[in-house]
Amino acid sequence: MVRRIGILGSTGSIGTQTLEVIRELNASAGAAGGAEYRVCVLTCGSNRELLLKQILEFLPETVCIASGDDAKWLGRELTSAGGGIASGAKILYGDDGLEEAASVPLDLLVTAIVGMRGLKPTVKAIRAGTDIALANKETLVAAGEAVMSLAAEMNVRILPVDSEHSAIFQCLESSFAGGRSSVDELILTASGGPFRTYSARELESVKPSDALRHPTWKMGGKITVDCATMMNKGLEVIEAMHLFGLPPEKIGVNVHPQSIVHSMVRFCDGSVIAQLGNPDMKVPIQLALTYPARRPSRTPVLDLTAIGSLTFEKPRTDVFPCLGTAYEAARRGGAYGAVLNGADEAAVELFLKGKIGFNAIPKAVEAAMEAYDGPARAEGGADDGVRLAVEADRLARDYVRRISEWL
Ligand code: NAD
Ligand code: MG
Repeated sequence: MVRRIGILGSTGSIGTQTLEVIRELNASAGAAGGAEYRVCVLTCGSNRELLLKQILEFLPETVCIASGDDAKWLGRELTSAGGGIASGAKILYGDDGLEEAASVPLDLLVTAIVGMRGLKPTVKAIRAGTDIALANKETLVAAGEAVMSLAAEMNVRILPVDSEHSAIFQCLESSFAGGRSSVDELILTASGGPFRTYSARELESVKPSDALRHPTWKMGGKITVDCATMMNKGLEVIEAMHLFGLPPEKIGVNVHPQSIVHSMVRFCDGSVIAQLGNPDMKVPIQLALTYPARRPSRTPVLDLTAIGSLTFEKPRTDVFPCLGTAYEAARRGGAYGAVLNGADEAAVELFLKGKIGFNAIPKAVEAAMEAYDGPARAEGGADDGVRLAVEADRLARDYVRRISEWL
């Protein structure tokens, strides 16, 4: 069986690991009787050299890069390397190109692009009937209601790649006949990031290079800063709310610095089921690709005796206010997820450019939430929901940029 796969953001942390998993799965496909994964769509932002290498290796049908100049460069390189002729790759560019690439009918699209930019192409893919392996949590944070209802309407599966959500997805298999009604709480684990033990005062002087050093996971810049502010966990609470259809009061967070327990589900009889593993994103990526089958992987065997102890703490929401602000956005629902996410994207960008301090990130997001005076809810169907999210996102970003010098 051949499975047609696409990757949005193939040059990033999740994108490159997805291609590694595909190489490993294809190498063992014959022996293990598994499917063959054919990479049909690849897209990226600016890393044209890596995209070129990926095109020559995987021979996709359609590729997309952010700039038109880079698309021309790819065309020239592919013609001279013979790859363009061999693969006949259609080369697209820009946001329109991204939406066209995402509309190519596939068995599964891995959304490994970062930020709100992932929303519209993901919606296109759902409309084309393609199942989604969702890494781009921003899609659900900004427009979860619209996206989940469209996916249900189109009979499209949204498979989680985020390790916590993959863990919960696996734990929920244990709900037997009780379904969601037997679930009392989803417990997301958080590493606590590089500043887990810092005071608010110590956080004032942290630099972008400090925030970019994550203790247990190696990821792209935006999500790494979100882990340091704990906004990542806040985004994941909203992601879980939409993916699993539970209200925010049924979603808790435990700080677990070892990142071995990836998340847990507490059921009504008091049983807590957890999913454990070494911190390796290739495991949840592979499960999203092979679901409902499990296939062997090359991740090191988990040896709990070598780790010795696993510890859990309450999150310090006084020092890391982003988590509380995200819960507030989850409770308000509607446009507030997009406001939260847009404000955070703009604030993280300003922090990484050295224009605002670390503690200004939560302040900016909270201020944007309070200042938002656009419509709270969409009127009609999924398209209205997406339009509302795009507009709320724009307002929040503009607001944060405007107030940045006072933060
Ligand atoms: P990354 O920064 O390493 O990669 C981002 C990808 O998006 C790259 O391929 C980049 O080229 C592409 N991109 C960036 N700007 C673009 C633009 N303007 N147009 C088109 N493409 C563009 O990020 P990452 O760590 O791989 O994270 C990707 C997504 O997965 C995020 O939503 C993140 O929250 C989520 N996620 C990541 C991890 C992880 O371990 N890295 C874990 C869970 C969830
Ligand atoms: Mg995660």
